[in-house]
Amino acid sequence: MGPGKTRRTFMKDCSTTAAALTTLAAVAPAAGAGPGTSYICVTCNSQFTESARPPENCPICDDERQYVPPEGQKWTTLEALRSSHRNVIKEEEPGLFSITPEPKAGIGQRAFLIRTPEGNVLWDCVAPLDDPTIARIKELGGVAEIAISHPHYYTTMVDWSRAFGGAPIHIHELERKWVMRPDPAVRFRSGQSLELRGGLKLVTTGGHFDGYQVLHWPGGAEGRGALMAGDQPQICMDPKQVSFMYSYPNYIPLNAPAIRRVMECLDPLAFDRVYGAFFIRGRGIVPDRGKEVVRHSADRYIKAISG
Ligand SMILES: [Zn+2]
Ligand SMILES: [Zn+2]
Repeated sequence: MGPGKTRRTFMKDCSTTAAALTTLAAVAPAAGAGPGTSYICVTCNSQFTESARPPENCPICDDERQYVPPEGQKWTTLEALRSSHRNVIKEEEPGLFSITPEPKAGIGQRAFLIRTPEGNVLWDCVAPLDDPTIARIKELGGVAEIAISHPHYYTTMVDWSRAFGGAPIHIHELERKWVMRPDPAVRFRSGQSLELRGGLKLVTTGGHFDGYQVLHWPGGAEGRGALMAGDQPQICMDPKQVSFMYSYPNYIPLNAPAIRRVMECLDPLAFDRVYGAFFIRGRGIVPDRGKEVVRHSADRYIKAISG
C-alpha cells in the first residue's frame, strides 16, 4: 500500500470521525460557553458547528499532519479568545496588511488583508476576532472576499465573513471534509484557478493538502508580483530557502511528483516576493528573487529525496 492509498484511507476515516461529532464528550465547558456554542480547538483553532457541549475530538488535530498535545484535547470559544488575545494589524507594503494574534493563537499563523480598488481580500484567517480588529479593517475598506490556503487556517472564517457582510469564503472542494463549521458563505470551487477581484488569483497546487491553494497578487512587490504562500512553499529560517512538507509538525515530506506538480502550478505566475504564514521563520518573507528561491529550493529538495 503506497502513501497515497494510506492517505486516502486515513482521510476517509477522518470523515467518519467528523460525522460522529454529534457524540458529545464529558469535557468541562470553556469560558464563554453556553447552549449553541461554536467551540474552538485550542491546538489548531478550528471552529466547529454550534453544539451544547464540546465535540468529542478535533479531526484536524487527529490527522497525521497535526497533533493532539500530550495533555489532551482542549476547547475554547471566540468569546474567551477576545479577552486573552488581540490582533496586531501592520502594513507590510502598500496595499498589504498582516493580521497577527498576540499572544500566539492556535498554530501561530497570521492572516493578510490585500487592498484593491475593487474591494479587499482577506487571505488566510486567524481565530481571534474582536471589535478593534473589525473597526480597523473597516477603516481599511472592509473585506469583500475571503480565501484560505488550507484547512489549518479555516479557524473562525464564518465569524469573519459575518463581521463583513457575509463575504464569500473561497475554498477548494477537495477540502470539503475538513470544514468543521459549514456555512452558506463557504463557496467550494473546483478546477485549477479562480480569479478574484483586483487581479488576484487563487491557484491550486496540491501538496500539503490535496486542494491546497496559493494566492497570486500581481500588484505586490511594487508591481513585480507577490506569492501569498501560506504554508507552502514554507519560508525557512534562512529566507533564501523555502520548503514543502506534507506535515510540518511531524516532519512528513512530500514525494518528488508532488513537488513537481507544485512547481508546474507556480511556474506560470510572475512573482518576486513571497509572504508566508509565519512571522518567526525568516520573518515570513522572501523579499525579492522569490521565484528563483522557490525554484532552487524545489530542485534541491527533489535531489535530496531521490535515491
Ligand atoms: Zn484541532
Ligand atoms: Zn498547514
